[in-house]
Amino acid sequence: MARSGLVRRSLVAGVALVIGMALLVAPASGAPKKGKANLRVTALTAPPEVLFQASGVRVRGKVANRGKRAGRAKLVATLNSSKRPRPGAVRLGTTRVRVPAKRKRNFRIDANVRRSVTPGRYWLVVCVKGRGGNKGPRKCKLAKRAVRVTFPAGSRSLGDELFPQIGNGGSDAKHYTLSLVYDPDQNAFEEGTETELVAEATQDLGRFSLDFDVQDPDGARSLEVTEVLVDGQPAEFSRTVARPPLPGGGSQPMKLVVTPREGIPSGEEFTVLVRYEGTPAEVIDPDGSSEGWIRACYLEDFTPGNPEVCDGAFVVGEPIGAQGWFPSNNFPTDKATFDTNITVPDDREAFGVGELVEVLDNGDGTSTWRWSEDDPTATYLTTATNGDFIFSEESITEEGTMRELPQYVGIDAAATPGQLDTITTNLGRTEEMVNFLAELYGPYPFDSGGAVADAARGVGYALEVQTKPHYSGGFSAGAPSVNQGTLLHEIAHQWFGNAVTLANWNDIWFNEGWAEWSTWSWESNDDPSAPTPAERFQEEYDNPDNDWSIVPTELDNDPANLFEHFPTYVRGAMTLEGYRQIVGEQFVVFARELQNRFAYGNVTTEQVVDLAVEVSSLSGEDRELLEQYFQQWLYEGEKPTILPDDFND
Ligand SMILES: [Zn+2]
Repeated sequence: MARSGLVRRSLVAGVALVIGMALLVAPASGAPKKGKANLRVTALTAPPEVLFQASGVRVRGKVANRGKRAGRAKLVATLNSSKRPRPGAVRLGTTRVRVPAKRKRNFRIDANVRRSVTPGRYWLVVCVKGRGGNKGPRKCKLAKRAVRVTFPAGSRSLGDELFPQIGNGGSDAKHYTLSLVYDPDQNAFEEGTETELVAEATQDLGRFSLDFDVQDPDGARSLEVTEVLVDGQPAEFSRTVARPPLPGGGSQPMKLVVTPREGIPSGEEFTVLVRYEGTPAEVIDPDGSSEGWIRACYLEDFTPGNPEVCDGAFVVGEPIGAQGWFPSNNFPTDKATFDTNITVPDDREAFGVGELVEVLDNGDGTSTWRWSEDDPTATYLTTATNGDFIFSEESITEEGTMRELPQYVGIDAAATPGQLDTITTNLGRTEEMVNFLAELYGPYPFDSGGAVADAARGVGYALEVQTKPHYSGGFSAGAPSVNQGTLLHEIAHQWFGNAVTLANWNDIWFNEGWAEWSTWSWESNDDPSAPTPAERFQEEYDNPDNDWSIVPTELDNDPANLFEHFPTYVRGAMTLEGYRQIVGEQFVVFARELQNRFAYGNVTTEQVVDLAVEVSSLSGEDRELLEQYFQQWLYEGEKPTILPDDFND
């Protein structure tokens, strides 16, 4: 008796004592029974080694009743700074149990670690409270190991409507150094392959994730992570499939989840080094197309029936392919600068974004191509394409600024003389195109340009990789080709898409609408017999085959619609062309203001529309009509009825 009383005073907080006394005073419901319940916690599952502020934890264990009658009690889980529970412990959660006489029950407490819990080392304790509880010292059970409470975990999504799987909260990427050691014969990264990321914590960060690798539809994944260091210290890491599943039967994005030894305080810069090996991932998108690290193969002599030759990799990343070959915050708003170092056999060439720093002869049959881009770059616009190329470095002159812009060009060495001639002729118009666009939109936004024309079959598109648009070999035998319309389109993206980038994937009409409109404008300027942008607008408006039901800024919430031609490209370009007709000369002011205000960053559709209205110089009814114009053209799934002719002049 005395012992019990002493223990009660030392172990139980005052509140519980009061509750216990109240229960003793209150009459039990039902008929009184003889004997007593005697509940105690007999087992406690070991807690996770690390708990995060503002996160849940499930506490499990067993509770036994050694008494002669059934008993009820409350179980209270707390975190204690020492092994002996005492007042001041951090309460995690509670549950109520009822255990028949001489029986055991499992219990579960779904608890919360509050954000206010101070980071540190704690012991998890579960105590029995209430009149059915054991009165002895065994009324509390201590978990077998201590837990470390640290800062909150960063979120594993940035909430994109089409791709909620990508993006990671809690940090801001500043600079990536990509070091790839690639064996084209094995299509594999070898030892020495690593990504170093310098980032800033934007919250107190106890755990963070990066977008890295994908899971194939058959469940296989490609890359093995061998080590993760945070600020030079080995960090725990795990890999998980991102949620929710990406629809469409393609690749599932994965996360690399990293728990550093020490939490990172908000505002602090930190370095993550990820070492990895294996086959980089070709990413199959919801629309069935390929991106990421695509092995570059073609049919010998580009003749059907001939054997396939693979000489390197065609590396493109829109929308999520970057994570097929390096860990990143793979989200278009988290731009960073890039050093890209690619080690390949001596007889191959390799391309990163930005300018060529040097080609290092490693003396072992390999060379390292070192590229550096010091303008902010979205991950989807990076590359590491390599293979057997005819490589050249020339320069063009930007007339408005008299800047010399280096042009790095790679044309697949397998190109036939005829293909080479056509590609070279078309690329020869690059300087004219850059100057045509610079006159409209302002200076070319980067320090270099170029083109990579690869023999790579199975990729039916070109991509505006930053500073080095990529042109594939199409679906058939893989013959490299560059045509002028596509060339202009990809160069225009350097202003719209690359310098000023969409903020969410549902803003894709902005990237593609500008590129498409630029091509309309170039073609009519270059060839007097080609339709003018105004004629293209009218043709498309009158074309009964066009499907107006897909809202450009929603795309039916289906990621497979990302590159749907009419709503994304054509309707986007029409929206801009109609606006040009409405505001006349102010159109160029609009384009340049988009560059002035948003270059090297991102823009939302709302910001684009606000700026268009702001610079329109319209007022009164016409200004309201312009707002309705954008509403109809960008936000509604019907054929717009507001046309440029509806505005007063
Ligand atoms: Zn495009």
